[in-house]
Amino acid sequence: MERKEVSAILQDDFIEFLKQNNLYDSYMKKELLCEYCQKPISEYNVFTIYFDTKIKFCCDNEKCIEFFNKRKKK
Ligand SMILES: [Zn+2]
Repeated sequence: MERKEVSAILQDDFIEFLKQNNLYDSYMKKELLCEYCQKPISEYNVFTIYFDTKIKFCCDNEKCIEFFNKRKKK
C-alpha cells in the first residue's frame, strides 16, 4: 500500500462513484464543480472527492490541491 494521504481517483471508479451517488446526471450537465476554482469536474481532472455536509470535489489544479490540503489540517 502506498502511503499517500489522498490518491488520484481511477476514471472507472469516479464514474461508478457518481452513479452510486446519483451524481452522474449532474456530471453529464457539467454541474459538478471544483470546490475551489469552480471548474467542471470530470474523470480527467478530479483530484479527490470528499464529504463536507455534502459531496465535494477538488480538481487537480495545484492551487486547488493546496487549498484542499490546508483545509484538511484544520
Ligand atoms: Zn479546482
